[in-house]
Order: sequence, then C-alpha cells, then structure tokens
Amino acid sequence: MVADKAADSTKEESMDVLSSTRTVVKNALERLGYPDEVFELLKEPIRMMTVRIPVRMDDGSIKIFTGYRAQHNDAVGPTKGGVRFHPDVTEKEVKALSIWMSLKAGIVDLPYGGGKGGIICDPREMSFRELEGLSRGYVRAISQIVGPNKDIPAPDVFTNSQIMAWMMDEYSRIDEFNSPGFITGKPIVLGGSHGRESATAKGVTICINEAAKKKGIDVKGARVVIQGFGNAGSFLSKFLYDAGAKIVGISDAYGALHDPDGLDIDYLLDRRDSFGTVTKLFNNTISNKELLELDCDILVPAAVENQITEENAHKIKASIVVEAANGPTTLEATKILTERGILLVPDVLSSAGGVTVSYFEWVQNNQGYYWPEEEIAEKLETIMVKSFNAIFNIAQTRRVDMRLAAYMVGVRKMAEAARFRGWV
Ligand code: GLU
Repeated sequence: MVADKAADSTKEESMDVLSSTRTVVKNALERLGYPDEVFELLKEPIRMMTVRIPVRMDDGSIKIFTGYRAQHNDAVGPTKGGVRFHPDVTEKEVKALSIWMSLKAGIVDLPYGGGKGGIICDPREMSFRELEGLSRGYVRAISQIVGPNKDIPAPDVFTNSQIMAWMMDEYSRIDEFNSPGFITGKPIVLGGSHGRESATAKGVTICINEAAKKKGIDVKGARVVIQGFGNAGSFLSKFLYDAGAKIVGISDAYGALHDPDGLDIDYLLDRRDSFGTVTKLFNNTISNKELLELDCDILVPAAVENQITEENAHKIKASIVVEAANGPTTLEATKILTERGILLVPDVLSSAGGVTVSYFEWVQNNQGYYWPEEEIAEKLETIMVKSFNAIFNIAQTRRVDMRLAAYMVGVRKMAEAARFRGWV
C-alpha cells in the first residue's frame, strides 16, 4: 500500500509538466554556466493573471468561467503565445506552456518572450454566440496586461481564426484604434497572414524532413502515425500524404483509425468536424494507446500532454518521434527513447512554426505591408532548417538529448537579455 502510494506520487510528478519543464530549464542553465538566480527568475512566469468571466448562456442563465494569462519573461520583448479553450486547463499547465513559448521564441530567434492563456471550458458544448461572449469577456478581463507591444495572444487548442477575430475586435473597441497587431492567427481579411493556419504543421513537416535525412529514411513511402486531428494533425497528415508518405494511423479524442496500407486522408479531412473529430463515424476503431504502439517509421504526437510515458516508451516502434503537441512526452520517456536510439524532435523546436508565422503576421501588421505566401513559406523553411540543425549539432557535440539541446538554445537569449537589463 505504502509502496503503491510512493509509486503514484512519482508518477504524478513525472506527469507534472511545470516541474519537468523546470528540471530541464535548470539543467540547461547549469550547462551554460549561468548562476542560480537566473533559474530562480525563469522558473515562474513574471506575471500571472487569473480572471473570472461571466457569460450569458443561450438558456438565459449566467455562467462564470475561469481563465488565465501567464507572461513568462519579457526581457527580450513583448510576450507571445496562444490561448486554449479546454476543460482540462489548469494554472500549472498555463504556466508551463508560457515557459515553452519563451523557449520556442529563443530557438527560432524571435524578439519575444513567452506567454500563454487558457480558459476552463468545453467549446464543443457551446454555441457560437456563447463562444463569442466568452472570447470578448476574456479580452476585457485581461486588457490591462495585453497589447501589441506588451503581450500578443494567438490560437491554441480549440481556438481558431474566428475567435481571434472576436478578440481583436473587442480589443480594438477598448483601445479605440483598429489594433490588428494585438493578436495573431486572424482571418486574412482582418490582417491575418498567409500560411499562418497551416504554419505549425509546416514547421513539423520541415523537422520531419530534416530528421528523416539524419536517419536515412525517405519520407516518400514512410509509414507515419499521427495522434490528433486538430489544427496541427490535420494539416500535417495532408502535407505528408501529398508528399507520398503512408499515413497508417490517425486519432482524435475519441479513438483512432488504423490501416497498414495507408488511410485515405482526403476522405477523412472531408469528414472531420471543426474540432478534428472523425473516428465517431467508424466502427473498427482502436484506442489512442494502441495507436502510439503501432508499427511505423515516424510517430507524431499532435494532441495533448503526457502521451508517451515510461509505461509505453519501450513499446514505441517508430525510429523518429516528432512532437507537434506541447509536452506529449515525459522526461522519463525522453530518456528511454533516446537510449533506444530513437530520434526525438522536441516540441519547443518542432512546433515553433506557428509562433514563427505569428511573428511574420505581427511584423506585417506593424508595417501595414503584406507579404505573398511564397515569401512566408521560404522564410519559415530557412528558420526551421537552421534551428533544427543547430540543435541537432549541439545534441551531438555536447552528448545530450535533443530536448536538453533545444532548451539550451531556447533559454540562452532570455537569460542574456535579463542579465544585460541588470535583472539578475
Ligand atoms: N499556440 C501556438 C504555440 O503553442 C502558437 C503561438 C503563437 O502563434 O503565438 O506555439
């Protein structure tokens, strides 16, 4: 009984995304030779706001939602990062996500620190009108700490360009100016950028191509499993399918589909709903757990946190794992996969395409001059390839795993900026 309890608490700790993020940040700072106070500064967001948002629901009742906005560090520049709408949002998770955003900005060298927001809600159960009330209420509640030069929100899990449009409109009313640079991931007609919607998946695809080169795998004909069919998972499946890969498994929150001969991705994309649900239409589904252990060359967790753990890391058959979700692999699992010679491309690198194109969107808004799609694609490719190879080389020369190498690159810019400012 006692032993079980101890095992449970170790398991809980390994699933605690904030404490595992801190562990790697500390390790990265130590390897870079920074003193302890730098870690003390970076282990928590500098600012964390909790808000209560009243929304009149369609049945006439008023429901109060809880939301958060975390600003991890603004030494480099304004903070930047998405807002998620999900029933499982917690304060701890939002804090960890804001640290990851700082790391992503450092890795792809953007003039930002990290931020993140979340609202505890289930958008799948809410009407359009209720979602609009919630989005506008959230912006009113956090308006004092956000702004085009303070903190710039964006889409994340279960939020999209329509939600960004409502938020931008609400902020513009408060600010009494049209403020497209307040938020990214907007519809194109409101100052959104070409390529933003598919940017995370594009970045992941570039990392897959680079990782495949290192492993001597041809993406054309490679067997790929993708967990999650949301923004990242759906665009990614299309890019890889069009590149000739065989997508042998995909999943949503309710189950997974498997076909060793390759799934018909165009058909599935056509049938998916706006939340990425598609498996409910089929009888012969498998579980998400079974999906991760399928025989394949490339595995892409593109759903939620803590999917590859010490319990299943030994059973993963892929030779490349590219994280498109934030935090899908625990630290224990990272160690096991690396020891097994599996090339693990960490979230803070592989999912940084989204914030990169968000940066392009913000620059275009600030300039009032808009770039063609090819220019965005080209700039994104250059940044992602460079970042991937820099981190891969550090992992090789310093003999560390790719996650630690990515954290070393990601943390350096904000640590230096904080020191120049005389903070630590
Ligand atoms: N939510 C995305 C992420 O986790 C994008 C953030 C942004 O575009 O600012 O990276």
